[in-house]
Amino acid sequence: MAKTGNIPVTLIDKSAHAETAFDSLGFGDAFSDHMLLCDWADGEWKSPRIVPREPLKVDPAALGLHYGQSVFEGLKAYRGTADNRIRLFRPDRNAQRLAASCNRLCIPAPAPDQLIDWISSLVAVEAKWIPEKFGEALYIRPMIFATEGHLAVRPANQYTLVIVAAPVGQYFAQYGRPLRVKAEDRYTRATSGGTGAAKTAGNYGATLKPMFEAASQGFDQILWLDGDEHAFAEEAGQMNIFFRIGNEVITPELSGTILPGVTRDSVLSLLKQWGIKATARRISMAELRKATESENLLEIFGAGTAAVVVPVDSIQYQDFDIRARPPSANSISQRLFQSLLAIQHGQVDDTNNWIQFVDTE
Ligand SMILES: *Cc1c(COP(=O)(O)O)cnc(C)c1O
Repeated sequence: MAKTGNIPVTLIDKSAHAETAFDSLGFGDAFSDHMLLCDWADGEWKSPRIVPREPLKVDPAALGLHYGQSVFEGLKAYRGTADNRIRLFRPDRNAQRLAASCNRLCIPAPAPDQLIDWISSLVAVEAKWIPEKFGEALYIRPMIFATEGHLAVRPANQYTLVIVAAPVGQYFAQYGRPLRVKAEDRYTRATSGGTGAAKTAGNYGATLKPMFEAASQGFDQILWLDGDEHAFAEEAGQMNIFFRIGNEVITPELSGTILPGVTRDSVLSLLKQWGIKATARRISMAELRKATESENLLEIFGAGTAAVVVPVDSIQYQDFDIRARPPSANSISQRLFQSLLAIQHGQVDDTNNWIQFVDTE
């Protein structure tokens, strides 16, 4: 059980809660009142504290800003539909992944249990910011960056960890229809030996230009392909990608260039528990084209914390449209979406032990 702990809290004078448009929550338009700060210096993470959310004072030569020594995470706190209790979904996975990202970027990682305590403490303080509707949540964004001011390209000796929180709506409501995706055969998100498996700032900055170009061509998202040949599917924007061919669901295997999604892992677990064949392996665009032509490509969907599960209508690859059948009420993606949210909102038994409660005395 999460402790609200012995972290000092400075409460804000005037909450922004009343002025926040809870009827029309987007993703990241509004933030909660407080943040958690913690500093790394002299070899340890020191003095975690919860304070009013405000701009940070940063050295203009901060190494994290200049050279991208910066990592982040994303997870959600949900309200129980029946019991109103606060639930975190698999925070242990996010804490472990943050440590893995830190390791890749030479950042000292907070101990996973410690990080979960800090997240729980902030969520407890921000309890009123957790929306109650099905599919809505308080998105939690831990981030660590190097704050030491220096010019040498080397690991810093000072870091700041900040955790902010944002009430978010049901992501799919923004689209209301399956996504149109462009398979990117020119730009590359990640290559073997690179940082693709880490949630690190530079991976996202590098995708802005390709995303802008895809959007101006009318696409909602990019499907990233492998960096060597641009012939194999990797992931869709900030989501992992799944293909249902006949009665098998396939997702690209974790090869070091793909972000190991918590939602991806949960989807694979649920499919196995439902007796549906679920395979993580390399999948080529040629195979997807064949499956489209033989009408065996039944579903395409993305999975990630922000969107949960989102159906994809089609993926344009060069001159060909890889296309799924139109979504139906008994599609696997719909069942996954409903089931994950039912677990997250405590509507069904948490048989996988994925939920960690946050109690506010
Ligand atoms: C965060 C992220 C995902 C999804 O991971 P979840 O843990 O399911 O939220 C997938 N791909 C990329 C590139 C990401 O940054």
